[in-house]
Amino acid sequence: MSNLELNKETGPREVFCGLTSIVWLHRRMPDAFFLVVGSRTCAHLIQSAAGVMIFAEPRFGTAILEEKDLAGLADAHEELDRVINDLIARRPEIKTLFLVGSCPSEVIKLDLSTVAEKLNQRFLGKVRFVNYSGSGIETTFTQGEDGALKALIPLMESTEDNKLLLVGTLANNVEDRFKKIFSNLGIQIIESFPPRQSTQLPKIGHNTKVLLTQPYLSETVRDLEHRGCQIIHAPFPLGVEGSTKWFLAAAKAFKIPEDKVYDVISPLKNRAKQALESHVKILRGKRLFLLPESQLEISLARFLHNECEMDLIEVGTPYLNKELMEEELNLLPDNTKIVEGQHVEKQLDRVRESNPDLVVCGMGLANPLEAEGINTKWSIEMVFSPIHGIDQAADLAGLFSRPLKRNQILTSQTLVTN
Ligand code: SF4
Repeated sequence: MSNLELNKETGPREVFCGLTSIVWLHRRMPDAFFLVVGSRTCAHLIQSAAGVMIFAEPRFGTAILEEKDLAGLADAHEELDRVINDLIARRPEIKTLFLVGSCPSEVIKLDLSTVAEKLNQRFLGKVRFVNYSGSGIETTFTQGEDGALKALIPLMESTEDNKLLLVGTLANNVEDRFKKIFSNLGIQIIESFPPRQSTQLPKIGHNTKVLLTQPYLSETVRDLEHRGCQIIHAPFPLGVEGSTKWFLAAAKAFKIPEDKVYDVISPLKNRAKQALESHVKILRGKRLFLLPESQLEISLARFLHNECEMDLIEVGTPYLNKELMEEELNLLPDNTKIVEGQHVEKQLDRVRESNPDLVVCGMGLANPLEAEGINTKWSIEMVFSPIHGIDQAADLAGLFSRPLKRNQILTSQTLVTN
């Protein structure tokens, strides 16, 4: 590992909870429904996080736990039963129903795994029920996906087929491009988890080679390993460098020579490097502060430093799984300051003291920082945008260069006006 400065911090946090991941998971699996068992606050969060999308029939909802439910478990069970019966009667197309726990359901100790078990017996063969927690007490927003995928693993059948399994939600077009490249490299079975249909879960076993597309899936990885899958350790496919090493690691696991990988990806790399140039002109030498939120921070820092020539002030991350992140950490420059966890007040003090050119942070912190004249980028945008792969490198850089360019234009207009 490079000579890094690793720190831990605890205290008040300012991050989204795991419910947020429903927004991209329900788009990925259109035959699944996500039922949050929570309060009106949870319902508001999910509605506003997904507010950019208009649905005739949304594929997520909330079974509201009222105050009286919080006083007695019996009432909560009744309400849940009523909502589920109504939902299944109205929506026969639902194949998998995720019961998503929240802070309120946790506080009243509602045992959603027992609820799911009973429902599975009642609706045998019609709908599958699985449960996981999206509660803000124990998850940050990308961890919701980790919980959802982990909950599906027991439903996956076994196989001895030699296959590549891409794990982590990707935009469909990005996934298609990755699969085409792996197929051109000669890999015969390439599957994704989560799949596009919740009922078409891939089979797994000792010859399944898992290649992660997202860094926030620690628990999923642990359970896949328990099922015998082999984990391919690699940096994540963000930017040209990360994606190249990601393809190379997969090729090595399938004994495909490096030359073949370069033959397939070199044209993409050349185009991507050219497309990056205009963004690097804006980003070069700019000082970056990443606050912890999505767990993508370390990969983003590596890309923005190594390929966009930004200087890293501090790289925050809500959790650091050193084993999964080892390849990424090795690519960071010496003396990079990494802070795991959060004490939001102290971190904001350090932001103000260091006067960065750009801060990557959650939506709740962006407005106050912008009001103080500090440029920000919402970290949630990275999980909603197709940023993976060599050919997306310039688009990824653009997410960071745009706010700086906009600011430059505004500053020059102000100067002219004055
Ligand atoms: Fe808030 Fe907890 Fe509900 Fe998330 S799960 S919206 S943190 S109450």
